[in-house]
Amino acid sequence: MQKYDVIGVGMGPGAVFMAYEMIKIDKSKKVLLIEQGKRVENRNCPIEKIGKCVKCKPFCNITSGFSGAGAFSDGKLSLYNEEDDDIYVGGNLHKYIGVEQTKRLIDYTDKVYLSFGADNKLEGTQYKNEVKEIKDRAKKECLNLIDIPIRHLGTEKAHDVYKKIENYLEENNIDLMFETVVEDLIIEDNTIKGVKIRPSNAKEGDTTVVYGEKVVAAVGRKGANWLSDMCIKHNIKTEPGVVDIGVRYELPDEVMKKINTYMYEGKFIGRPGPFKDKVRTFCQNPSGFVAAEVYDNNLTLVNGHSYKDKKSTNTNLALLVSHKFKHPFDKPIDYGRNIAKNLNELGAGNIVVQRLGDIYRGKRTWEKELKTNKVEPTLKSAVAGDITFALGYRTMTDILQFIRQVDKVVEGFANPENLLYAPEIKFYSNKVEIDNNFETSVKNLYSIGDGGGMTRGLMMASCSGVQMARILEQK
Ligand SMILES: Cc1cc2nc3c(=O)[nH]c(=O)nc-3n(C[C@H](O)[C@H](O)[C@H](O)COP(=O)(O)OP(=O)(O)OC[C@H]3O[C@@H](n4cnc5c(N)ncnc54)[C@H](O)[C@@H]3O)c2cc1C
Repeated sequence: MQKYDVIGVGMGPGAVFMAYEMIKIDKSKKVLLIEQGKRVENRNCPIEKIGKCVKCKPFCNITSGFSGAGAFSDGKLSLYNEEDDDIYVGGNLHKYIGVEQTKRLIDYTDKVYLSFGADNKLEGTQYKNEVKEIKDRAKKECLNLIDIPIRHLGTEKAHDVYKKIENYLEENNIDLMFETVVEDLIIEDNTIKGVKIRPSNAKEGDTTVVYGEKVVAAVGRKGANWLSDMCIKHNIKTEPGVVDIGVRYELPDEVMKKINTYMYEGKFIGRPGPFKDKVRTFCQNPSGFVAAEVYDNNLTLVNGHSYKDKKSTNTNLALLVSHKFKHPFDKPIDYGRNIAKNLNELGAGNIVVQRLGDIYRGKRTWEKELKTNKVEPTLKSAVAGDITFALGYRTMTDILQFIRQVDKVVEGFANPENLLYAPEIKFYSNKVEIDNNFETSVKNLYSIGDGGGMTRGLMMASCSGVQMARILEQK
């Protein structure tokens, strides 16, 4: 059997940008990417047509396939401010390669997106004075408001851009293997030798082998669970990770008008009492739609996106609490999964939605109440109920306190008719220990992107791929 120079597991932005950069550096390298989902042009989410999640088999089309979670994402590429000494959004890449190198990588990767048709317009750069005024008010409420330029692809545009990249990779002899699961890693003498694969619809254990000199795990949040299992099975070193647990919050565009206009996405970060956990807003979608997505073990999680053309009258955003556990508990993924499971059961397999006012009143929300609610839910499959049955006291308190804080900066943020959808959970595997070359404790096995806990956004995941290709070239 043919041996590859590099095998990438997954075809999210991390792996895709690694392959792109490998073509630029050295076309003679034999590179294979393996993805359990479909080609980007074959990915469809039936929820658009039939209004409810049918849990696509064998894999959710929102989270799997060429360009990974990027294909149906809102396509907000978070850039940076030259004058900031830190990189605030999208993960910890800069902790491995430094802030300056990360900024240069973002510049480079942004240009690549532009060359494949991303919109020239940058959001969040025109209203410096107005933004400063909101930032100052936030500071008084002990909230940090991060403002950085954003390039917004939009969900439909993201598809086009990634389709062009898919074509480019194939035209340049990158082997793309779709609808194929990497079931196991082949490791001998603490060195990676290849991977065991099977067709996505075949039964577990029905595997064949592909050999590779180097293997790069770029499995995203979708594969975080698998990666965790691999780390346990093969003694790959990890450190306890974080799990972000919270809700998707939906409120009228009118309330978010200033933030939407001046910044497109306002990233508030606070540490409300009494727990002082980090709480943040994330993935804000002006005139957007709340979405459901299915993860491993059939868990349905909530997310959100917005289109360039199709608009609602609501803004949605995630309110997330970062939880890090200490001895003796080291299973953040299991913790998040249990919460998601309980919430899914409360919603008969669907996302649960509740009005903020009902939480304050200590009651569930009923379907008929949603019908006359001022904020009309954009996720039609969501089931009215009571999220407080399943979200822990600590998470719930953090979220409610944070909403009150933001309300002092954005009037109407704590309106009782605003909607909370749950579970919104960001799984990262226990962080895979990697060195500055992204190499794990197993020789020639690397980890990039969201799955191993290094990044948590499109731009950073893409940058980690570019950097990976450059590292591999030097080895
Ligand atoms: C609805 C939605 C909206 C989002 N909006 C934004 C946004 O606006 N801005 C932003 O910055 N980020 C956004 N994100 C997050 C962003 O999409 C991710 O941060 C990014 O895609 C991570 O890239 P990645 O390459 O690490 O992994 P992913 O994109 O998750 O790709 C990993 C791929 O690996 C595959 N895979 C996993 N395990 C295996 C296996 N064992 N065998 C074979 N294949 C495997 C998966 O099927 C998947 O296709 C959004 C995400 C979602 C779901």
